[in-house]
Amino acid sequence: SSLYKVDGWGGSYFAVNSSGNITVLPHGSETLSHQEIDLLKIVKKASDPRSCGGLGLPLPLIVRFPDVLKNRLESLQFAFDHAIQSQGYESHYQGVYPVKCNQDRFIVEDIVSFGLPFRFGLEAGSKPELLLAMNSLCKGSPEAFLVCNGFKDSEYISLALIARKLALNTVIVLEQEQELDLVIEISNKLCIRPVIGLRAKLRTKHGGHFGSTSGEKGKFGLTTAQILNVLKKLEHVGMLDCLQLLHFHIGSQIPSTTLLADGVGEAAQIYCELVRLGARMGVIDIGGGLGIDYDGSKSTDSDVSVGYSLEEYANAVIHTVQYVCDRRSVKHPVVCSESGRAIVSHHSVLIFEAMAASAYCAPTFSTLGLQYLVEGLSEEARADYHNLSAATIRGDNETCLLYTDQFKQRCVEQFKQGTLGMEQLAAVDGLCDLIGKTIGTNDAVRTYDVNLSVFTSIPDFWGIGQVFPVVPIHRLDEKPTVRGVFSDLTCDSDGKIDKFIGGESSLPLHELEGGHGSGGYYLGMFLGGAYQEALGGVHNLFGGPSVVRVLQSDGPHGFAITRAVPGPSCGDVLRVVQHEPELMFETLKHRAEELTDDDGNSVVTASVLETCLASSFSKMPYLVASSCGLNAM
Ligand code: PLP
Repeated sequence: SSLYKVDGWGGSYFAVNSSGNITVLPHGSETLSHQEIDLLKIVKKASDPRSCGGLGLPLPLIVRFPDVLKNRLESLQFAFDHAIQSQGYESHYQGVYPVKCNQDRFIVEDIVSFGLPFRFGLEAGSKPELLLAMNSLCKGSPEAFLVCNGFKDSEYISLALIARKLALNTVIVLEQEQELDLVIEISNKLCIRPVIGLRAKLRTKHGGHFGSTSGEKGKFGLTTAQILNVLKKLEHVGMLDCLQLLHFHIGSQIPSTTLLADGVGEAAQIYCELVRLGARMGVIDIGGGLGIDYDGSKSTDSDVSVGYSLEEYANAVIHTVQYVCDRRSVKHPVVCSESGRAIVSHHSVLIFEAMAASAYCAPTFSTLGLQYLVEGLSEEARADYHNLSAATIRGDNETCLLYTDQFKQRCVEQFKQGTLGMEQLAAVDGLCDLIGKTIGTNDAVRTYDVNLSVFTSIPDFWGIGQVFPVVPIHRLDEKPTVRGVFSDLTCDSDGKIDKFIGGESSLPLHELEGGHGSGGYYLGMFLGGAYQEALGGVHNLFGGPSVVRVLQSDGPHGFAITRAVPGPSCGDVLRVVQHEPELMFETLKHRAEELTDDDGNSVVTASVLETCLASSFSKMPYLVASSCGLNAM
C-alpha cells in the first residue's frame, strides 16, 4: 500500500487487506465498526456474469458507498459542532451541499436524508439544479437552507420565490447587481417577501488553479461599491430587512488555513459592516473550498493537496468569525458552508479494466542482419553507427546519448528520401532501443489499454491536468514488475492517463495474468465523486459508466448491491446527439433488403441484422434491490 500511498490519500476509508486487495471501510476507520468490504468482490459480483449472482454490468463501473457519504457529512458537522462548543461560539453551523458537484438523484436524496438531524440543505446554481433541490428538500428539514446562486433570469427568480412560498427556507443570493431589480419587481408581483443574500467579491486571492474566481478581478460577486448600491436600493424600497446572508467563495481546494482565515476574516468584516448599515443579517455563508488531499502529501502549496484536517478547517472558520464579530460587538452569525468536493469525493470509486498491455519488444534485427543495415546507411549515418558502437562498448553513456538521436535522425531523413527500407528503419529503432536499455535511459514504460473514456469519466485530468489516485484493486501482495501508463478507448490522443500522484509519469503495474488481451486486471480511480460525472461528456459517443450502490450488510460477503444501473446503450447516447435509433434501424434494414447477391438472396438477412443491432440499440433495464435480491425494473 505504501507504493500507491493508500495510507496517505485513503484517509480512513481505504486500506489493503492481507489478500492484497483494496478494501473499503464504509464508516471510516475511526468508528467502532471496522467492517471492511473487498472492492474486488463487488466488481466481480457487479460485472462478471459467471460469478454467483453476477449482474453482468459492463465496465467501467462506478461503485458508490452511501455509508461513506453519511460518514463524510457527519464528520463535517461534528467538526463544526466541536469547534463551536470548544470555542464558546454563540450560534450554530448549518451546511448546504452544492448539487453541481454531483447531481445524481440518489446522492442528493441521501444527503438530504442523512442531513435531516442537522438541518443540512442544498445549493443550486441553475434552474434545473434549483428544481431538483426544491424537490429533494421537500423531504428535508424545514429549516434547511436552499441557497440560490448562479446567474438568474426572471424565471429562476420566480421559481426561487415560489420555493419560499412552498415553505422551503430559500435564500436568493445576488451574484450581480442587476439581479436585485428583478428580485424586487417579481417579489412585489407575486407578493412574496424574499430572503436575500449577496455574494461579495473579496480582495483575498487564492493563488492556485481553483482560485481564478477570487480576488478583485474574479468573475463573480459584488464589489464594495455595488454592495453599497444594493443596500441603498433595498432601503429605498423598504426591504433592507430582507438582506440576511453574506456569501463568498474564494475557490475550490483552498490549500491552507492561513488563506482560509484571511478570506473568512475579510468576509466577517463585510458582514459586520452590513449589520452596521442596517441589514438584518443572520448567516455567513463561506462557500466551498474545503479541500481533499488527493496525493496524501498534506502540502499547502499544491492544487491536489491540502495542509489541514476537517477539524482544523472548522476551527479556523469559527475562530475567525468569532474574533471579528466580538471585536465589532456583533452577534455571532449562523455559519453555512457549501462544501461539495469534501462531501462526495470519497464515496464513489471508478473501476476499469486493463484489457491489454503493449509488450516490451526485444529489438529484432531482420534476417538480413546488421551488416545489411550498415551497408544501406549514408556515409554520415555509418560514421554515427561506428561511434555509437564504440561508445557503447566503452560504457561512455554521454557519447551514446549524443549519437543515438543524431543517428536516428539521419536514418529517418534517409527513409524520407527513399534510400532506406522499412526493415532497415525498424532495425535502427531496435538498435537505438537496445542502446537505450543498455545505458539505462529507456525504462520501457508499457501502455495498458483500459476500457474507459478519460473525457467521460475523468474530465478534470484532461481539462485541467488534475491527478487522482489510480491503483490496482488487487494483486497488491505481489511486487509490480513493470511501469505503465493508460490509454483509453477513445480515438483521441488526449485519451490517456500518464500523470499520477507524487509527480510520477508512470505507475508500477503487474503483468496481465493471461497475457496480452486477457483483461482481468482491475484498477480503481479514487476520490472522483465530485465534479467528474457532472462534467464528463460523450466524446466519441462513449456513454457513462455503469453504477452500483453498495451497502454494508451482515451477509457472507459483508455487502449488498442495492441498486444497479448499466451504462447507456449505443441507442441512448445516439439519442443525446439527436439521432433516432429506431429510424436508423429501419434504414439499415431497408438497405439490407435491397441488396442481394447473384442468387437473389439478401446479403444480410433481417434476423442477423436484427440480432446484431438489437443489443446495441436497446435500452437496458435498471435494477433495484427487492426482498429477494436484485430485480429488473
Ligand atoms: N459554492 C460555489 C459558489 C462554488 O462555485 C463552488 C465550486 O467551486 C462550490 C460551492 C463548491 O466548492 P467545493 O467543491 O470546493 O466545496
